[in-house]
Amino acid sequence: MDQISKTNAPVLDNFWMPFTANRQFKAAPRMLASAEGMYYTDVDGNRVLDGTAGLWCCNAGHGRKKISQAVERQLSTMDFAPTFQMGHPIAFDFAARLAKIAPGGADAKLDRIFFTGSGSESVDTALKIAIAYQRAIGQGTRTRIIGREKGYHGVGFGGISVGGLVNNRRMFPQIPADHMRHTLDVERNAFTKGLPDHGVELADDLERLVQLHGAETIAAVIVEPMSGSAGVILPPKGYLGKLRATADKYGILLIFDEVITGFGRLGTSFATDYFGVVPDLVTTAKGLTNGTIPMGAVFASRKVHDGLMVGPENAIELFHGYTYSGHPVACAAGIATLDIYEEEELLTRAAELSDQWQEALHSLKGHPHVTDIRNLGLVGAVELAPRNGAPGTRAYDVFIDCFSKGLLIRVTGDIIALSPPLIVEKSEIEAIVSKIGDALKRVA
Ligand code: PLP
Repeated sequence: MDQISKTNAPVLDNFWMPFTANRQFKAAPRMLASAEGMYYTDVDGNRVLDGTAGLWCCNAGHGRKKISQAVERQLSTMDFAPTFQMGHPIAFDFAARLAKIAPGGADAKLDRIFFTGSGSESVDTALKIAIAYQRAIGQGTRTRIIGREKGYHGVGFGGISVGGLVNNRRMFPQIPADHMRHTLDVERNAFTKGLPDHGVELADDLERLVQLHGAETIAAVIVEPMSGSAGVILPPKGYLGKLRATADKYGILLIFDEVITGFGRLGTSFATDYFGVVPDLVTTAKGLTNGTIPMGAVFASRKVHDGLMVGPENAIELFHGYTYSGHPVACAAGIATLDIYEEEELLTRAAELSDQWQEALHSLKGHPHVTDIRNLGLVGAVELAPRNGAPGTRAYDVFIDCFSKGLLIRVTGDIIALSPPLIVEKSEIEAIVSKIGDALKRVA
């Protein structure tokens, strides 16, 4: 499958691919043509088991008719309508549906929802809301945001500023930010099943940064409750609660970026529910529409929302929004997605499977090159020792090997990251793990 079939090969020059080594890819492309359930089919007709839910998106699996029918219906009823000074019922309906399952449950009151077009837009929206809120309550000097090393918060200027991945940052100017240390500690926590025991003290970095910059300069702190893109980095036990307490102490808003963890990935609707720590703002995308139509949503607390609903009634409260905020077709896809999640109880399915997932993944301990295995809910990571002088190449070779044997995984550096659709069956979990095990034995 390394070479795309010659018969129907498209011209590859024009699509400038994102986060891709374009020249390497175009020399040996991997092309997917269709998708159903747990499987893709490539352009040559080979079935490929989806170990990554696309890109952490397709929690209900692929090809869901309920979603495509809802999209089709909405497209033919009303394709687009603006949400600037205008409304359409489906956007309000979707927000009301989301409010019912909002992170933290009814008591958390995180049920004021701002629609965006992607995870990056959700992040930049949440950062702007945080800064605007602080200003609205008389804290206008609070413009700095605290993020974390190895954090990924998309690719907007706000997101890269608070993110902690050097390649995403080094070429671009940034907004005022600083970073806590990351929580990956393979030395102390290698092969831990679930949350690591060591590292809660890393949450003290927030206190340290407050002492360095002054609380009056800090609007918010943003973290992924479980960071995915940098290679599945879990919060040590007690870490998130400590962040919440420090943020409260200094009037700093806490933002959870749940673009990956939202919609059932950890076995609860949101990671907020899994950890029992309630932030002030939650960013989402991906699983919101099962990856079908691009869309994101920011859940804001009533405190934050109401803090901005001030001034004359005819004044726009927040000068922010996207042409596609609350796009009717995306809302239709989102409502159908929520229907599926509810009917099939998918938002809690990861909890049922997580023990088996954990055991299956950890059976790879002892395989060649494996230096750590991490898991939570239906997320997994297998970290490999890098080759001397060629970091990332070993995991990349495993990725290529797995794909040639009919399994899609994701690699970042020398870490294999796994996040199958939440419809995955036990036999498919076994297949994912055994294909990776075989690849590890083959790859030098
Ligand atoms: N935030 C997190 C935690 C993510 O994992 C991602 C994407 O993977 C984003 C933000 C950016 O989302 P998007 O690619 O939809 O802009």
